Amino acid sequence: MKDTELVDTYAQIKSAQSGKFRSALRSSVLDALSMKHSLFGEESELKTPRVQFLYFHHIFKDEVKNFEKLLAFLSRDHVFVSHSEAVDRLLTDRIDKPYIAWSSDDGIQNNMLAAKALNTYGASCCFYVNPASIALTDVNKIKQFCQERLEMPPVAFLNWKEIELLQRQGHEIGNHTFKHDMVSQLTQEQFEEDFLKADEILTQKCGPVKHFAYTYGRFENFTKPAFEFVMKNGYESCISASRGCHINGKGKLDKNKVFLRRDQIIADWKLSHIKHFLIKGVQELDYNTNFLPNSLA
Ligand SMILES: [Zn+2]
Repeated sequence: MKDTELVDTYAQIKSAQSGKFRSALRSSVLDALSMKHSLFGEESELKTPRVQFLYFHHIFKDEVKNFEKLLAFLSRDHVFVSHSEAVDRLLTDRIDKPYIAWSSDDGIQNNMLAAKALNTYGASCCFYVNPASIALTDVNKIKQFCQERLEMPPVAFLNWKEIELLQRQGHEIGNHTFKHDMVSQLTQEQFEEDFLKADEILTQKCGPVKHFAYTYGRFENFTKPAFEFVMKNGYESCISASRGCHINGKGKLDKNKVFLRRDQIIADWKLSHIKHFLIKGVQELDYNTNFLPNSLA
């Protein structure tokens, strides 16, 4: 789609953002933390066997180069596996290497650029999509969806043909709710209806769907009954956007108790800052973070 009203570079996203001071402050704090890691040789901690889920929302054309650099860096010490394999390795206690599983939320069309870069590493990604936004072409509807549900400027979304192509390339499709509501603001009945609608459409278009990523990603954006409903419907995993990675070492896990953590990546971030988040995750590795947090209502 060539529509000038749609944003197609990350530079445009950045210029639309306010709070420049805050981001400059954040950047220098992260610079200092990154410096500490290199001073103490902590980067070698990334060789620690674990399952690390990483996700992005977009790889705009002006982010591709950085994304390729990140993939090149991560591929040195990590094995890229599919989302399904990562989940299975965690559940069956087979984490003998540092594993990374990629995923992406919201089905933005430039995910095709991400897939192209991932394909060169044979890396499979799980694309979590909302059937309500797939193939939206009306600019006003796109604007409304992006503003109300994604809190971002209007962008093009994937269509079903592209999703089919992603699957043929070895990628997986996951359920990210039908229309990107915040689950904690829905009644259980509304959530179940939305979830099943998304599941039905995705199953019909893509075949069986096994993984669910709830929207907004913080623990408080989700509920325990919603989690139980997802797993009762035969899903293999449910994932948050709370930072952290996974180890096991204690035998098989019950998938109905496991709750996954993920680290967000914005390809435009400095590589040293991304390294900082990953090293912090390794340093905080804890068997107990495999499970549903007590704070989930
Ligand atoms: Zn989302």
